[in-house]
Amino acid sequence: MLNIILFGPPGAGKGTQSAYLVEHYGLVHLSTGDIFRANIKGGTELGQLAQSYMNQGQLVPDDVTIRMLESEVAKHQEAKGFIFDGFPRTTAQAEALDVFLNGRETPVSCMLALDVAEEELKTRLLARAETSGRPDDANPAVIQKRIDVYNAETAPVASHYAAQGKFTGVDGIGTIEEITERLQAAIPHH
Ligand code: AMP
Repeated sequence: MLNIILFGPPGAGKGTQSAYLVEHYGLVHLSTGDIFRANIKGGTELGQLAQSYMNQGQLVPDDVTIRMLESEVAKHQEAKGFIFDGFPRTTAQAEALDVFLNGRETPVSCMLALDVAEEELKTRLLARAETSGRPDDANPAVIQKRIDVYNAETAPVASHYAAQGKFTGVDGIGTIEEITERLQAAIPHH
């Protein structure tokens, strides 16, 4: 099993790069943001709960997010591995993921972190708003909030995996292909 956490701030290119990794390594892509948005669209209870947090640029509570992620993993018994995009976003989520995956004897293989400076993130997210239709991309105050939440709550998750020897930082500036090559070079042989 190859279980990759694709890490980085909002706008770093996680979704774009996931598409390549999924195709090349035959992994199942689990984006918690995408799953929440599908629930909002479908008008589910989970979607209703998540929406207010998302529109304000805040994190959906850990208990709800962890339960959702675990049930998504469990749906894919035949998977060759997973790419986790946008999860874990807190140390509590990382600890829960480790317990869950270690219990299945399919631990996290590596965390690959896309490194992009803050000004560039803001520019990218505002540009993405033109096509994403995401209300959280269109509002500069919400973008700032998401970056602040990332710095305060999510950035520490890097240390969690660095302590396990599983962390690699990758320069997230360049063409899509250049960044893909950097990621590929950082993926452990399996
Ligand atoms: P994303 O699509 O990854 O940018 O996520 C969009 C929004 O969904 C975030 O700003 C959060 O409100 C929520 N979200 C996505 N993933 C998580 C997570 N792992 N924990 C908490 N909230 C999340």
